[in-house]
Amino acid sequence: MSDCIFCKIANGEIPSNTIYENSDFRVILDNGPATKGHALVLPKAHYADLFEIPEETLAGAAKVAKEVASNMKEKLGCDGLNLVQNNGSAAGQTVMHFHLHIIPRYSNDCQHILWKPTQPSAEELVAIKNTIVGE
Ligand code: AMP
Ligand code: ZN
Repeated sequence: MSDCIFCKIANGEIPSNTIYENSDFRVILDNGPATKGHALVLPKAHYADLFEIPEETLAGAAKVAKEVASNMKEKLGCDGLNLVQNNGSAAGQTVMHFHLHIIPRYSNDCQHILWKPTQPSAEELVAIKNTIVGE
């Protein structure tokens, strides 16, 4: 994808603060970080989102995230960590090249990666279950 900024970053055409790289992935610091150390796992090949990325590449991204997260825990001393992955603008995706957020969390970071719980009835939950798995 010639006009995709994450393709250019992942393949080294645009400089980035790279904290990990292998033949298939580059992990960079997010330039609008939620917290200190917020990073993005970028596949070097272009896939728009979860629906396009092959299973084995997704598994590779998870493996890289675990390795980087473990390193962050040791080096940054974070108290927790969120993995976040947005698909589609309705879900908050702003760059349409698959990426996995690694967000180290600190007890006093004042960030919120939360949603407002709703209160569906038992029948509504069953109806949703049936829609997903079939009746
Ligand atoms: P999302 O909302 O899941 O699509 O996240 C996109 C993320 O990419 C945001 O957290 C941005 O701060 C980050 N971002 C966008 N452009 C760049 C860039 N050139 N370098 C580093 N991070 C970027
Ligand atoms: Zn791309």
